[in-house]
Amino acid sequence: MKSIIQKRLFQGFVCLHILHHAEKEPFYGTWMLEELSEHGHRLSPGTLYPILHSLEKDGLLTSFEENVEGKIRRYYRITEQGKKELQEAHDYLKELTRELEEKNVNNNEEREGEKSDE
Ligand SMILES: [Zn+2]
Repeated sequence: MKSIIQKRLFQGFVCLHILHHAEKEPFYGTWMLEELSEHGHRLSPGTLYPILHSLEKDGLLTSFEENVEGKIRRYYRITEQGKKELQEAHDYLKELTRELEEKNVNNNEEREGEKSDE
């Protein structure tokens, strides 16, 4: 995570990734840290938990505690508001991606005109 764009998008992408999994099934913090790191987001607990708490405070996630082999574990799941916002963000990203790809198609066509060996 170094580029300017990535820094700007980081929080939003992580939130979307979290909501996406919360919609599928409840998760706990350590699981999410591993999941995000598999996608190249290496977060510390000190970064993830404030994000989870703020998503909960904003009403997009809700949490509950469960006793797992004698240890209390806090699980997070998505709310109706969270589902709505995830869908809206998804629609927006789809539209944006479509537009970005349109630009790529145009660029490729231009390049093909310049170079014939590709
Ligand atoms: Zn994932």
